[in-house]
Amino acid sequence: MKVRPGCVVTFEYVLRVDGCVEDSTPPGEPIAILHGHGYSLPPGLEDALVGLSTGYLRAVVPLERAAGPFDPEKVTTVNRADFPLGAVLEVGEQFYLQDDGGRAVAVRVIAVEGDRVTVDANAPFAGKTLEYEGWIHGVREATAEEMDHGHVHGEGGTEH
Ligand code: ZN
Repeated sequence: MKVRPGCVVTFEYVLRVDGCVEDSTPPGEPIAILHGHGYSLPPGLEDALVGLSTGYLRAVVPLERAAGPFDPEKVTTVNRADFPLGAVLEVGEQFYLQDDGGRAVAVRVIAVEGDRVTVDANAPFAGKTLEYEGWIHGVREATAEEMDHGHVHGEGGTEH
């Protein structure tokens, strides 16, 4: 059968961005997702699986269907004092900062210069075309209980 929302897909993947591997399942350890509930997957992957069946997986997801365009206005420079006391401010670290409206915004540190810290609030992979490659090991109908719980039971899923 082919992948569609509400089925269980067991698969492995590697995500490449600009030719570099940015994410993957652990080698030899396929994951199982209840399609439509794969919140922890990188952007665009779940949609890219639709219509595929067991076997080789390759999908190129343009930024419009992945994390969207990169917004340069989401790159700002803030003070070290805006971070929690004792925060380790290194490039690549992630924090939640409050915006002007008091909302928590996830940011990544992209530069540190003295007390000035440049952060990027764009979603990871914003502005990027995402290339997925991998292998679909199996596609099956979800059980009523899995649909009810919103996750996969058994191999590759939740044991309880
Ligand atoms: Zn469950």
